[in-house]
Order: sequence, then structure tokens, then C-alpha cells
Amino acid sequence: MTQADGPHFETLAIHAGQEPDPATGAVIVPIYQTSTFAQDGVGRHKGYEYARTDNPTRTALQTALAALEGARWGLCYASGLAATQNVWYLLDPGHHVILSDDVYGGTYRLMARVVARYGIEYSLVDLTDPARVRAALRPETRMIWVETPTNPYLKIVDIAALAEIAHSNGALLVVDNTFASPYLQRPLALGADLVLHSTTKYLGGHSDVIGGAVLGNDPEIYQRLKFLQNACGDVPGPFDCWLILRGIKTLAVRMRQHSANGMAVAEMLRAHPAVERVFYPGLPDHPGHEVARRQMPRGFGGMVSFAVRGGADAARAVVEGTKVFTLAESLGGVESLIECPAAMTHASMAGSGNEVAENLIRLSVGIEHVDDLLADLRQALARISTAARASG
Ligand SMILES: *Cc1c(COP(=O)(O)O)cnc(C)c1O
Repeated sequence: MTQADGPHFETLAIHAGQEPDPATGAVIVPIYQTSTFAQDGVGRHKGYEYARTDNPTRTALQTALAALEGARWGLCYASGLAATQNVWYLLDPGHHVILSDDVYGGTYRLMARVVARYGIEYSLVDLTDPARVRAALRPETRMIWVETPTNPYLKIVDIAALAEIAHSNGALLVVDNTFASPYLQRPLALGADLVLHSTTKYLGGHSDVIGGAVLGNDPEIYQRLKFLQNACGDVPGPFDCWLILRGIKTLAVRMRQHSANGMAVAEMLRAHPAVERVFYPGLPDHPGHEVARRQMPRGFGGMVSFAVRGGADAARAVVEGTKVFTLAESLGGVESLIECPAAMTHASMAGSGNEVAENLIRLSVGIEHVDDLLADLRQALARISTAARASG
């Protein structure tokens, strides 16, 4: 994935939109902590009037993220869900959206409990099967919303195949690229119309900021979203933009290590007697492995899920037994996290028909030394057999 005619990804991450400050020469983009900007005369200004509309720190981040996704433009938001909501404001009452049946829980809640009240219709579909997606199309379908890899089962959706289906119906293909990051996967090059990120995760990378972004190429969609961003006002503050700018400088090295550690953890778990099944697109027997190799050529990321033998109690014993992996929701930071989706991130799925198995554990594999991560998981998994022996 080298750029045909320009700097490489690692170079763009450090320099795109981030030239030394013209006023002072500061090498790092300053935090422009100001709400308003002086005008030379009425309506004559240096490109900035009021910081809801535009802020130079945000502009730098938007330029950098667009470069990383190979997009012509980018817009940043206060959170991933604020970005999601702005994209859905492109729709009119009566329009229909196809969402993955294991879409991020907050995305589902925003659609089902907020956006649907304004006359937007939606269907939940298994997007790994293009035939089902085609069957779910309606004349008024205007958007297909993809996550890949999905959460928490790490299913792989063929972006190029879905782009073709969406476009055959005059619909937009939107890819939530949060789990892969632009280092591992660039959906616009595969035919997607818009890419969305929770920059809270891998782009920020240090579990210290909430943010969102939308990237695309179409100038007309840019004008509509730029209007919505300013009209709705769900913009990020300059310090939050600065933290994400700081994070993306190391995105490439972090993603390489997340992917290497993720693969090593998945292989260890697959061979472990207390583990029933491992979900990781880097494993050759993963049903989406071939598609993943094509659309994630640089690696498969740091998200690994696995089912343990012994049900909910066994899963709880493991997630409460790790010492390096921290028991917490979220993902994408340098530190390793562990959680039980059925009781934590996906508790809201109870009763939806799309519940997550109670013996499933989700890991966000960090960039600590891999031997410490493997040893930690092994000692936590040993608690299952100890517990089983005690009760049996
Ligand atoms: C976290 C997340 C979101 C929501 O982002 P926030 O920044 O928490 O609002 C959306 N999609 C995916 C895949 C996520 O992991």
C-alpha cells in the first residue's frame, strides 16, 4: 500500500497537515485554545472566524487523517458517535439503511432509539454474505454501514463486493474503520464512499481522548457534512485534536506491534486446552481469512476474541485473573485490555436475538512484551481448571 505518487504512510502520519507553525516555527502544531479570531476588516480574516466552524488544530488533524485514508477531505467530531450521527443526517425520512447484525452497540442504539424516530428505516443483516445484502436492498436504501473486522466476533466483510452492491442501488457505502485503522485497511481505495473512525481507539492510541472523524472524496458530500458539523456543533476541542495528532504519529509502529502480538496471542490460545474457539482473522482457518489478506495486507490487528470451556463462570474467572491485561471496556490503546462482551460492552444486546455467547472473552492486545502477555493469559486460563477441579 505505498502511495503511487507521494510520501509513504509513516511519513504522512508525522508531516501531513503538520508543517511548522507559520507564526513561530513551533515544530508541533500548537493547541489553538481560542473561541474566536480577530478580523482585519468586516469579513476579512485569515481563514478562521469562530472555533465551532473551524480551528487550526482541528484543521491540521483533518488534513492528516485524510492523508492517511487517501481521502480528499476529512472532518473531525467530538466522538465517534457524533461523527456517526452527522453521517445519518445526510438521510431523509423514508430512507432505509442496512447495518451489520453485529454493528457496534452504540451505533445500533443511536439508530434504533434516536435516528429511527425521525422516519429513517433500517435492517440488520449479516454483511459477510453478499447475497443477503442484495436481498435486503429496497428502492429507498441509501446507505450500507459496514464494520470490518466486526465486534466482538471479528467477522470479515468484503468491502469491494459491498461497494458494488451499494452503488448498483444508488446507495453510499460507509465503512467504520475503527478496528483496523488506516494503516491496516483503506476502504476508499476498495470503493467505499465514506470512512468513519472512533479516533478514541487506535488513532488516538493511548486511551486518553474521545473523538471521531469522517473521511471522503466527494466534494458535494463534504459541503453537506461541513454544513452539518457547524450547524449541529458537535466539534472536538483543540486539546483533544492535539492528542489525536500526537497519537497518529506512531500509528504505523503501534499497528505493526499490535498485529504481531495479536497473532502470537491467537496462536497460543488456539493450542490451549481451556479454549473452545478463537476468533482472529489472521488465523488461516478463519472463514474471512482470504478476504482479510486481500483488504488488510499489512496485518490483522490487535483485537482477538475467544470462547472458553466452562461457560460464564469460567470466562469471569479468566477476565478477573489477569494481571497485565486490565479488565476494562474500549480498545486500541497501547495497554492490553480484557473483557466479557456479554456482561460488559454487549450487555445491551440482551433480548435482541443477537446476544453474544456468555463464555466469550474479548482482548484488545496492546504493545507490551509479547512474552508477558502470553504468560499472563496462561496463568489466568489455569484458573479455569483449578476452579473446575474445586467444584468437581
Ligand atoms: C468506540 C466505537 C465507536 C464509537 O465511538 P466513540 O468515540 O466512543 O463515540 C464506533 N464504532 C466502533 C467500531 C467503535 O469501536
